[in-house]
Amino acid sequence: AKAAGRDTHRFYAEAMNTEAVAHLSTRSGLRRALERGEFLVHYQPQVSLETGAVIGAEALLRWNHPDKGMVPPGAFIPIAEDSGLIVPIGAWVLAEACRQGAAWQARGLSLSVAVNLSALQLQRSDLVRTVTGALDGSGLDPLLLELELTESMLIQNTDVVMDNLRRIKAMGVQVSIDDFGTGYSNLSYIGRLAVDKLKIDRSFVADLTSNHDSAKITAAVIQLAHGLNLTAVAEGVEDAATLAALRQLNCDVAQGYFLGRPGPADAVEHAARQVNPF
Ligand code: C2E
Ligand code: CA
Ligand code: CA
Ligand code: CA
Repeated sequence: AKAAGRDTHRFYAEAMNTEAVAHLSTRSGLRRALERGEFLVHYQPQVSLETGAVIGAEALLRWNHPDKGMVPPGAFIPIAEDSGLIVPIGAWVLAEACRQGAAWQARGLSLSVAVNLSALQLQRSDLVRTVTGALDGSGLDPLLLELELTESMLIQNTDVVMDNLRRIKAMGVQVSIDDFGTGYSNLSYIGRLAVDKLKIDRSFVADLTSNHDSAKITAAVIQLAHGLNLTAVAEGVEDAATLAALRQLNCDVAQGYFLGRPGPADAVEHAARQVNPF
């Protein structure tokens, strides 16, 4: 029986593929990273298409791993979500982004700060307390905080989610729908939830100038946003032609490598202080 147990153990050890091992090590690694301060936030500028001014920034989480170097969020956020660690990690991002926004505010820059939320955070009854804590702890004007949600998170439509959104909106915090157009065709939630911005998914923006369908979809989303009195934000702007096309379509705000890559907060501040009319 002892030998069989050992064999069974060996069998499972071998069957556990490298991905699963990586998964486990990342999970414990993530817990350590939070304790040891290995996370940092990069910021990507958001530019007004009317004035060319930097009006805000999106906070994007980075993990500066002691051996692996800078790990992109796609490599660890799914694991953080599965393990529930996204809740304390997300709370840290929120506090850090609010601290940065307040620092900009104190230096005379009125930049909004957009923070990505995970479904798990939105489903928790302590979300409002976490947001209030980040705002109060930093002194950031709630009007300068923006929370980015995805369509799939909003169609869940549970009491907790609806209550969280209602209370967040009541605080003056902005709410935007991220990756808009990739989720669900049922749009009834938009009016019901009183969101502020639609972020047109990168997949449409990327080939706006080369693909007729993408151009039509982008134009339609901008019209939809304006019809509902919402701000239209384009993400993934990688060249001048796309920027010009978006201005032509009356899109309000844009974000992308052409306008500024995600980077340290200083780079956003530098860009925000430039006089940069189109
Ligand atoms: P997202 O919210 O859609 O963020 C935009 C992503 O597009 C970022 O990738 C950004 O670096 C990238 N990007 C920006 N401009 C361009 C462009 O012109 N071209 C291309 N090809 N890409 C561009 P990143 O930083 O790797 O983040 C990936 C995703 O990870 C984010 O997608 C978001 O869903 C998630 N994420 C990032 N930070 C957080 C966070 O603090 N909390 C949560 N829950 N998710 C986060
Ligand atoms: Ca986002
Ligand atoms: Ca997005
Ligand atoms: Ca995304």
